[in-house]
Amino acid sequence: MTSQQRSAGERTDALEVWIDQDLCTGDGICAQYAPEVFELDIDGLAYVKPPAAAGEEAPLLTEPGAAAPVPLPLLDDVVSSARDCPGECIHVRRVADGAEVYGPKAP
Ligand code: SF4
Repeated sequence: MTSQQRSAGERTDALEVWIDQDLCTGDGICAQYAPEVFELDIDGLAYVKPPAAAGEEAPLLTEPGAAAPVPLPLLDDVVSSARDCPGECIHVRRVADGAEVYGPKAP
C-alpha cells in the first residue's frame, strides 16, 4: 500500500505530540505558541489536547504522557514549542513508527 492509498488517519507522515509532565516547569510557553494544542491545567502543568470540532472546546488529555495529533497548519508552532520548551519535555513523534522527529530525543 502506498501513502496515497492510505486514508488521512493512516498517513505515514502523521505526527503526534506528548509532554513529559515530570519535567514541565509550567512556564506556559507552549500554550502561548500553540494554544490550540497545549494548555495548562489547574495543577500548573501543560497537557495536550486534540483538534476541536468547529464551535466546540477540545478536552484536555490530562493522563500523563497522553498524545494528541499535530494538525499540519500548527506544525510550525508545535515545533517552536518543542524547541523553546525550557523543560525539554515536548516530544513530537511519527504515528506510524513512534520515532521522535522533534524534541529532546530527535536525531
Ligand atoms: S513549554 Fe515545556 S516546560 Fe513550559 S509549560 Fe510547556 S511543556 Fe511545560
